[in-house]
Amino acid sequence: MINKQIVLASRPEREAHPGNFHLVETPLADPADGQVLVRNHYLSLDPYMRMRMSDAKSYAAPQGLGEVMVGGTAGVVVASRHDKYEPGDNVVAMGGWQQYTLFDAGRPGTLRKVDASKVPLSAYLGAVGMPGVTAWYGLTRVIAAKAGETLTVSAASGAVGGVVGQLAKLRGLRAVGIAGGPEKCAYVKEELGFDACVDHRAHADAQSLARALRAACPNGIDGVFENVGGAVLDAELACINDFGRIALCGMIAGYDNAPIPLANPQVILRSRLCVSGFIISEHMDVWPEALAELGARVAAGELKYRESVAHGIEAAPDAFIGLLAGRNFGKQLVALV
Ligand code: NDP
Repeated sequence: MINKQIVLASRPEREAHPGNFHLVETPLADPADGQVLVRNHYLSLDPYMRMRMSDAKSYAAPQGLGEVMVGGTAGVVVASRHDKYEPGDNVVAMGGWQQYTLFDAGRPGTLRKVDASKVPLSAYLGAVGMPGVTAWYGLTRVIAAKAGETLTVSAASGAVGGVVGQLAKLRGLRAVGIAGGPEKCAYVKEELGFDACVDHRAHADAQSLARALRAACPNGIDGVFENVGGAVLDAELACINDFGRIALCGMIAGYDNAPIPLANPQVILRSRLCVSGFIISEHMDVWPEALAELGARVAAGELKYRESVAHGIEAAPDAFIGLLAGRNFGKQLVALV
């Protein structure tokens, strides 16, 4: 059998482009003792992959040239030589950008069995997976959101942002999204139930965006869940209340190595802000609690999400480049089956 894989061919200087990726076809080996062969049904595309394509200093080691691109996958066991797994098991893992993955299943944390009867398999890569836990942790532990407060979240229609706002609403906060374009903003308000959503693409600069945010946040902003940085963060800082908390989750505006200077860092002092960056893989202790809530809420229809699905491993590079440019609408996946 042949396994199609996408490897990192070169490192982008600025924006990632198709030439940075290369499709290879490799013969598949049968599982050895202790190994499990998984057919990947869905590949998750995530902004952090752009950072790993670069060899600049980051919190994660760079992806090696010529290696299969790293990525989360949800799939089904097709052959097993490990007594805990059998063909037909649904599993989530870091299977990479490829159709099949051979795992050493005995290594702790390698494979996670999931129940796809109440929650669709793909959701384990989004609302009931790493992005959902990121939203849960940033909101409940970093911002420590309280009922009655106002929260803003950027990239609000995305995998992380959409969950942040809905969990905030469920906890009695005013949730204000920031998203790109009228269609995404309408979805954030009407489908996800945020109180308001501001279209960052409709504003030429941070001052104009700040005016729109002020109108959407009549009591100011108490908590910022930041996914973007740059002008969006400048605008939020212009509206933040004293003792506001900022969860710095992502700064996607700067992932192509463009500088994103803060216009007014003095507000951090003046308003005695608490600014905390966090990486969700460093907080594994919260995953069971977060996944329990997220899974229950998705199964009950209380937590909604949307997916952008590309088809076939060959489509992964373009879909990834689109994600970085905001062409995705909700969680970006590649269906491989
Ligand atoms: P999304 O599904 O939100 O997709 C990315 C979105 O970012 C785009 O759709 C676009 O939305 C927005 N965007 C891209 N460039 C810009 C820009 N220059 N200005 C404004 N908006 C932009 O991705 P995720 O939900 O997967 O990730 C959201 C953020 O969370 C990312 O920054 C990611 O790195 C971070 N993250 C951090 C983790 C952690 O552990 N700290 C874990 C997981 C994710 P729009 O069209 O609305 O502008």
